[in-house]
Amino acid sequence: MSLGSKIAPQRAVRPLEASEVMKSVATAYSALMQKFRPRKLAKWKSAGILLTYRCNAACAHCYENSGPTKRAVMPVEHLRELLREFKKLGYTGRDLHFAGGEPFFDYKHLIACFNVAKEEGMLPLGKLETNGFWCKTDKIARERMTEIKDFGIGKLLISCDPFHQEYVPIEAVKTAERIGKEVFGEGVVDVAPRDFFDNPIDMMSLTADEKTEIFRGILDAQPLRMIGRSANVLSHLVEKHPKEEFATARCGKKLLWKRSIHIDPHGNVFPSVCAGIAIGNTMKTPLSKIHDDFDIHEHPMVHTLVERGPLPLMEEAIQAGCADRKEGYASKCHLCYEARTFFWQAGMYRDEVAPEEAYVD
Ligand code: SF4
Repeated sequence: MSLGSKIAPQRAVRPLEASEVMKSVATAYSALMQKFRPRKLAKWKSAGILLTYRCNAACAHCYENSGPTKRAVMPVEHLRELLREFKKLGYTGRDLHFAGGEPFFDYKHLIACFNVAKEEGMLPLGKLETNGFWCKTDKIARERMTEIKDFGIGKLLISCDPFHQEYVPIEAVKTAERIGKEVFGEGVVDVAPRDFFDNPIDMMSLTADEKTEIFRGILDAQPLRMIGRSANVLSHLVEKHPKEEFATARCGKKLLWKRSIHIDPHGNVFPSVCAGIAIGNTMKTPLSKIHDDFDIHEHPMVHTLVERGPLPLMEEAIQAGCADRKEGYASKCHLCYEARTFFWQAGMYRDEVAPEEAYVD
């Protein structure tokens, strides 16, 4: 037998695409970070303040479960305390954004919040987010935008996509964009995503089945974070996997080392966009103390997510009586959210699993 015949036939090796190389470099880097970075919170440099969970809409993709039935609104005097804490942490108003829910749902409250930001020297504000529903006439849009402009904002971000347009007429968004440009000038008003705004679909005239097909198409093109209402309303539209497939997922990057947070109307501090995971509550502990004194061993659920990912949490939930979903889970965040929803119902991890709005629609 010749040597050649002992060697297995060589398969042609496909060269890796640049995107695949980038992806594997990023994965390796992320694994290194996960292993060696200190279990401390990174220095935060941007924050979203959720002024309310109230909203005119109840979008299917809303990961906070905001909607018309929600009541929570951030007390204005608590916002003042928060802004003072942000100053201690070295923030200016430009590092902050107001969001919701829908900040314009209660316009008087929004103006009261801007007044506090002005008194505390935290203007101009980096960004104000809205779905534009309130731009029912040019007059209302112009009056309110002029008032907001006088306070000072860096960006007015108007959401525009098939989920929002189930509830908000596209004409209102068009009015918001047109009057926004007139009042603020170029470069302040952003409509996102732009391509839907330029080629909108009249979602309000579609049947439920037609809307579902559109949502399915969006989810095929771009995975969404399956937590909150997304998990409950949209997860059946995407491919699922057994929980064991998420065994290697870890969450240090999102929970500790991402440099952004959100604070909800109850004072819950969410790392990055992990709504429903509270690493502290500013109504009990000043924000600067939450940051500086953070000890991961005092946050058992976060500790598990950082060191071992969401799978052990779901295993713990199953042991405590949670049903494993036979159809599987859309993503690691979906798995995490299902475990946390069980914890919420069972009263487990009370300090970390909050608030009710994140778990009850
Ligand atoms: S699995 Fe949970 S903690 Fe990790 S990124 Fe997703 S929502 Fe956040």
